[in-house]
Amino acid sequence: MHFGPSLKSILVGLAVVATVRDVGALTLTLDYRYDTSGFFSATSADGQARRAVLEGSASVLEGLFSDTLSAITPAGDNQFYARVESPGTGSQVELPNLVVPVDQVLVFVGARNLESGVLAVTSVGGYSAAGSPEFLATAAARGQTGALLGQATDFGPWGGSIAFASGTGVNWYVDADPSSTEGFSGYDLFSVALHEMTHLLGFGTADSWDDRVQGTTFMGPATVSLWGGGAGLDPDLAHWKEGTTSTAPGTSDLQEAAMDPTLAAGVRKVLTRLDVAALSDVGWTPIPQAVPLPASAPLLLAALAGLVPLLRRARNS
Ligand SMILES: [Zn+2]
Repeated sequence: MHFGPSLKSILVGLAVVATVRDVGALTLTLDYRYDTSGFFSATSADGQARRAVLEGSASVLEGLFSDTLSAITPAGDNQFYARVESPGTGSQVELPNLVVPVDQVLVFVGARNLESGVLAVTSVGGYSAAGSPEFLATAAARGQTGALLGQATDFGPWGGSIAFASGTGVNWYVDADPSSTEGFSGYDLFSVALHEMTHLLGFGTADSWDDRVQGTTFMGPATVSLWGGGAGLDPDLAHWKEGTTSTAPGTSDLQEAAMDPTLAAGVRKVLTRLDVAALSDVGWTPIPQAVPLPASAPLLLAALAGLVPLLRRARNS
């Protein structure tokens, strides 16, 4: 399901990422401190290839949006205790006085055995904070003031965690070159990482998402404009309805949306216009004419596996 980089393509990819990062400020910072199983080990070829794939998925999102996020800098009476599910163990960990640099969303990444049929689990970070009103507002919204409204219109997260399935039942495809469109078997790590990172940016998880859900329909204005009305949701209200299709930006190719609940083996899914519209509705500001990765979605196998049935939220201040 994903692509993995050869050394040459990694270098090419990094050059592209650097160009994209000149355009937008948003940075998804991948942190492997809780990768206790070594799935992403920096000292193994497999781990390096998997890391490169995740960097590629992060760079897609970074290249789409121009938001600036305030730093969370605890000091003195201003205290910030972040909490998140460890991707390596599934237990909650606390990070006292975590510093979150400007424009960065921190993504703790790891792998563990997940229940059968689940490819990955995203845990949106929670926190406790104390201090000045300004500090508390920054902890909650990072300068995205629409996130503080009773009916939220924006989202300014510090980050969270993503756990990928490491059991023997999941055959990952680690693509050495995400820009190519070869057929493959297995589950595409690139597509799954992109899906989970999109959840961390608020799809199905932010208050500004919840406040646009009416019944089983998402009513964000950009989505309604694109879709000609509200877009139907899965019963979990955190994904599009199963089988929803849209087009990849820059193409007229129909593809199952990245943010429906499942991914088949042998399939690459990029973010479609519908997926991007929803992120815009959550509060992210699209960069005009952002160029996504080429779409490729060869359908080779029919087995479906759930992407993220678990969306945990824990927030208080
Ligand atoms: Zn999901």
